[in-house]
Amino acid sequence: MPWSVKIARIAGVNVYLHFTFLLLMLLVALAEGGTAPTFFEAAVGILFFVCLFTCVLAHEFGHILMARRFGVGTRDVTLLPIGGVARLEKMPDRPRDEFWVALAGPAVNVVIAGVLLVGVLIFGGGWSGLVWDLEEAGFVESLILINTAMILFNLLPAFPMDGGRVLRAMLASRMDFVRATQIAARLGRVMAVLFVVVGVFWLKNPFLFFIALVVWFGAGQEANYAILKSQLKGITVKQAMITEFHQATPEDSLGKIAEWVLAGTQTDYPIVNDSGQVIGILGTNELFEALKRHDLWTSVRDVMKRDFVTLESSFLLEPALNLYQRYPHNMIPVVENGVLTGMLTMDNVAELIKIRQALNRRLAYAKLR
Ligand SMILES: [Zn+2]
Repeated sequence: MPWSVKIARIAGVNVYLHFTFLLLMLLVALAEGGTAPTFFEAAVGILFFVCLFTCVLAHEFGHILMARRFGVGTRDVTLLPIGGVARLEKMPDRPRDEFWVALAGPAVNVVIAGVLLVGVLIFGGGWSGLVWDLEEAGFVESLILINTAMILFNLLPAFPMDGGRVLRAMLASRMDFVRATQIAARLGRVMAVLFVVVGVFWLKNPFLFFIALVVWFGAGQEANYAILKSQLKGITVKQAMITEFHQATPEDSLGKIAEWVLAGTQTDYPIVNDSGQVIGILGTNELFEALKRHDLWTSVRDVMKRDFVTLESSFLLEPALNLYQRYPHNMIPVVENGVLTGMLTMDNVAELIKIRQALNRRLAYAKLR
């Protein structure tokens, strides 16, 4: 995620801190600054912050480690003021797996709150001494309260909360995946409206309005993604690739590619040897960089990128699209028996989906008549 700094690497996953989080810490420090805290108070304040975000991080690693059990890797984790975001490489395909991955996050907070509560009961003078008000609660009591709030908030049955995924997974075991997502998304939107009504008009808490926005858009995004996924089912890379494109030989000059860039919209140029095999790739940005240091008649061979990926034309499109999350180029060369036959671009995939949607709509209409 842009605007974040790496702070740690845990279990092979990079952990980033978003700069808005640093901004929040600064604001809190400034707000507290008026009362001139003692060194001890400041230290406790910082320690509380650290504990709080350890809980958030532990929640995310609940998801990450459970996903790993189902063979799904994680790209990174970013800590934001509103919580953590773990970017999994994809969501597990089976509803049952997604159910456990979604539930694993809040389960970690249940364990933390439980352990702290037992600790307080044993060492802190028992149940009657507990204060359940965030304004007056002590250090450990505050952590228990906040973990409880995290559990309740994350288990709300609405996207993009964990509860939304749990609900969808439960519905999807009984019905079609798209239908299950649409029901869960619709419920999310009803909940967003409730947040606005309750939060703004009754509790007069603007934070709930913000949450409502997140839920409303999260629900729509999730529904669109599920529909997209179902429409890609069974389509091969060959059906979605473009077949009209420029390809260069290693001897071609940078000037020739620059002409192609000006004349058309192709963003990446495959470089092919005599037997049709791809041996390199050159993107427009790399071309611009190369032209700062080389002449127009420099051959492509000297500046082309040699680390690239290719796709087999018979591959299914949906898993192939996961490549775009890790790959810096817009266009991926498609090969058949080792020979270049096409290029896959996201734009073209979007066009293919639109064509299929239009045809499907017409067919559905025809059936009604
Ligand atoms: Zn979560």
